[in-house]
Amino acid sequence: MTSNKSSLEQEVHRLLKNLGVPATAYTHGELIVRTPITGEVIARVAKTDATAVNDALTAARNAFVAWRSVPAPKRGDLVRLLGEELRSELPALGRLVTIETGKILSEGLGEVQEMIDICAFAAGLSRQLTGLTITSERANHRMMETWHPLGVVGVISAFNFPVAVWSWNAALALVCGNAVVWKPSEKTPLTALATQALFERAAAKFGGVPAGLSTLLVGDGGLGQMLVDSPSVSLVSATGSTAMGRAVAPRLAGRFARAILELGGNNAAIVCPSADLDLALRAIAFSAMGTAGQRCTTLRRLIVHDTIYDNLVARLKKVYHSVVIGDPRKTGTLVGPLIDARAFEAMQRALVEARMAGAAITGGERVAPDVSSDEAFYVRPALVEIGSQAEIVRRETFAPILYVLKYRDFEEALHLHNDVPQGLSSSIFTLNMREAERFLSASGSDCGIANVNIGTSGAEIGGAFGGEKDTGGGRESGSDAWKQYMRRATNTINYGTDLPLAQGVSFEI
Ligand code: NAD
Repeated sequence: MTSNKSSLEQEVHRLLKNLGVPATAYTHGELIVRTPITGEVIARVAKTDATAVNDALTAARNAFVAWRSVPAPKRGDLVRLLGEELRSELPALGRLVTIETGKILSEGLGEVQEMIDICAFAAGLSRQLTGLTITSERANHRMMETWHPLGVVGVISAFNFPVAVWSWNAALALVCGNAVVWKPSEKTPLTALATQALFERAAAKFGGVPAGLSTLLVGDGGLGQMLVDSPSVSLVSATGSTAMGRAVAPRLAGRFARAILELGGNNAAIVCPSADLDLALRAIAFSAMGTAGQRCTTLRRLIVHDTIYDNLVARLKKVYHSVVIGDPRKTGTLVGPLIDARAFEAMQRALVEARMAGAAITGGERVAPDVSSDEAFYVRPALVEIGSQAEIVRRETFAPILYVLKYRDFEEALHLHNDVPQGLSSSIFTLNMREAERFLSASGSDCGIANVNIGTSGAEIGGAFGGEKDTGGGRESGSDAWKQYMRRATNTINYGTDLPLAQGVSFEI
């Protein structure tokens, strides 16, 4: 029997089948999935209808009630097993990430590695969900705080980290005793289906996992809104554009639900006169061009001291001219395609606006190096020298555009750095201790992530991840981010025979 499927479609179906996703989930559905590598259709995914969403939410609520009483280290065991499934399928899932998002293979694999790492972190954490004991002002009293499971956690994720973002949230939420309902980007449902299948494998090995503990809703923002508006959902962790955050934040606030908002960035690096320029060049190249400029932490603004400006910009131009753009599956490719035509159009519009603001632009044009298709959007990353922080520089354009600005005085650099609405990631390149420490101080970078002598992108899972201002203020992943997935109870215990009141209040009856 012959098949008229393209080789990419065949490969995707083979990967999904091996990862345990039933063919009915991706062969005859209404949601058309294209790979940005060639623009061709690779799957037709079944959408979740409103009735199924409500059923999933009810099941999740019931699963939570059972799961919250399972001892936390035992819950950690489920997440450990999930990590093992991910480890054994790293090459397959990593390749699927590459095909679905267009990021280069080492980044596709890196995304799955990050999932494995957060599972290991969360499994360890499951024995360390610790609260304080607090000295009491009253004799024979003890105070302590206890952390309890919260409820159902809704996860809404963006296309550019189609699976890692879920794992940051789900691994913590599950060890903290919650159920998880996930609405991935409608642009990347395949890696979500595969991840869900791996979760189910882990759950089968664990045995006795309550039905509905972790479920997947496939569809567009409308389904995300159902999560946001459902009284069954205690916390929504939403990753995406600032526009999406503006839509969901007031709705969550309106019902006093918790929110973790991980929104757009407009990340900058300051390059000082003493910087190690070889190191800075590599860091800038990866942060600005990696993932074709489609990371929330992508370097978008470079603020360079005027004494090193010409040297650094000349070297950068060389790298921008020579960087290998093409099929992200091929060894040697560093820049893959943009996700779709809309991303390409948004990039071109931004470049027109920058040119109108007086910018000099290198790159930015569409290229078709080794993939001939009208439906695939490969661009040469753009280096945009601009005299001031014009309006276009202050907005996030989700594409590889690096605006380069010149500074003379360090205070001016710090001002330019912070003078944008977003506050996600930031870097300084300097060997001057005073500049480095000032950048990290209260009057330095106003971002959630501030680095010295490394780029803005590529965070490790051990730290809390997130940003300020229009980036939404949420924190995920490491450090004490787990506390957001639990509710805190303060307990006071009287082991004496008197009943002294706090603050010396007297109430004799
Ligand atoms: P997007 O805002 O278009 O979509 C993100 C998710 O939100 C999708 O699942 C979408 O279906 C859902 N959604 C959209 N409108 C909604 C609504 N009204 N209610 C509920 N859900 C809704 O973003 P995108 O294009 O997929 O991703 C790119 C953006 O995400 C960039 O701005 C990038 O900076 C940001 N991002 C931020 C982080 C971070 O951690 N700060 C990480 C990755 C991406």
